[in-house]
Amino acid sequence: MQEEKQVFAKIDSYKDLVVEMQTRMIACPAVSPHSDGDGEDAKAQYLLGLLKTMKFDELYVIDVKDPKSKTGVRPNIVAKYYGQNKSKNLWVMAHMDIVPPGDLSLWKTDPFKAVVKGDKIYGRGSEDNHQGIISGLLTVKAFMDLGIRPPYNYSLLINADEELGSEYGIVALLKKHKKTFAKEDMFLVPDGGNPDGTMVEIAEKNMLWVKFTVYGHQAHASMPLCGVNASRVGSILSIKLDEALHKKFNKKDKLFAPELTSTFEPTKHEANVPNVNTIPGTDVFYFDCRILPCYKNDDVLKEIARVVKAVEKQYKVKIKVETPINDVSLPTDKKHPLVNLVVQAAKDVYKNQPKPIGVGGGSVAAYFRNAGYPAVVFSKLFDMAHQPNEYSSIKNTLGDAKVFALAALRMK
Ligand SMILES: [Zn+2]
Repeated sequence: MQEEKQVFAKIDSYKDLVVEMQTRMIACPAVSPHSDGDGEDAKAQYLLGLLKTMKFDELYVIDVKDPKSKTGVRPNIVAKYYGQNKSKNLWVMAHMDIVPPGDLSLWKTDPFKAVVKGDKIYGRGSEDNHQGIISGLLTVKAFMDLGIRPPYNYSLLINADEELGSEYGIVALLKKHKKTFAKEDMFLVPDGGNPDGTMVEIAEKNMLWVKFTVYGHQAHASMPLCGVNASRVGSILSIKLDEALHKKFNKKDKLFAPELTSTFEPTKHEANVPNVNTIPGTDVFYFDCRILPCYKNDDVLKEIARVVKAVEKQYKVKIKVETPINDVSLPTDKKHPLVNLVVQAAKDVYKNQPKPIGVGGGSVAAYFRNAGYPAVVFSKLFDMAHQPNEYSSIKNTLGDAKVFALAALRMK
């Protein structure tokens, strides 16, 4: 208890460092080279300089080749601080890359110049994901400054390319640099949360995007007998799919409140004919499906195939089914010690009632879970990611650092 109190006091003394780090990082617009940006190099150089002044036991960069980047690579920083037992790591992973500022007229300040107003620091990247980088770093700085060795290694993974799919970040690391990680490693990902710090995300639904192309026969709108209206058949198919999928895959899972069930949403509809008096010969639309982990994507695709076949037969059309995204996402077990460590730590720091939850999908934690590692997404934040006038809270940054510290110190 005494040790935890010392660590808290130490972390509270780093307020100026939070402002300094945000100011330096906000000034490095780390937009992906695949979105015509400069990439993470400048930010990585700044961070490396800072990390080198600290007492890490291992500090290195894993460069992942990317011909689009000016340097030919995308940097991923690994910094390990050994624990009393070195057999496993508690990792805090956060990303350096940012999304572009978007419409500049919506910003009240320069997105690449930090502006501090009370507890808030404004600038692109301040919350997504500088807050995570800084809180992860403050935790280990407090350990170092106090001469504390946690029970196990506390390690930072500061990665590239999160916003565009992690191909040059965590995906490459898990594929080609698996030696970086030990078998029993655990991951904290401070890249999602809510304003009261009660969301401890441990699971995601499986993602399945399905594209349907209906091939009919184009004709003049006044002579439907000469054609086969693909738009009509597409509409009928869409409604039949909607009914069949919701009926068959109707299980509920409390973890995923408020969206308790799998979701099947007709979304994008591609433009067909430009004029009103032509019967469209083709119709293209999409379903966004988020499937509870108790079902398999293949079972959903089988049901889709059944409905498609019936509609093809009834309306004498051909329908092509494609899956632009078909991702399976394994959950982290609710009973895994990491989950309880984070829930308890958040409760002790923020005096709230945190709960393990599941989300609709799309976080980097899924890569770790699918590779067999437990991963928890947690931070206290205002959900300013990708918005104009993005800001981060200094208090939350310090608070999250305390949560990570408690989790690290209480690891068994
Ligand atoms: Zn992020």
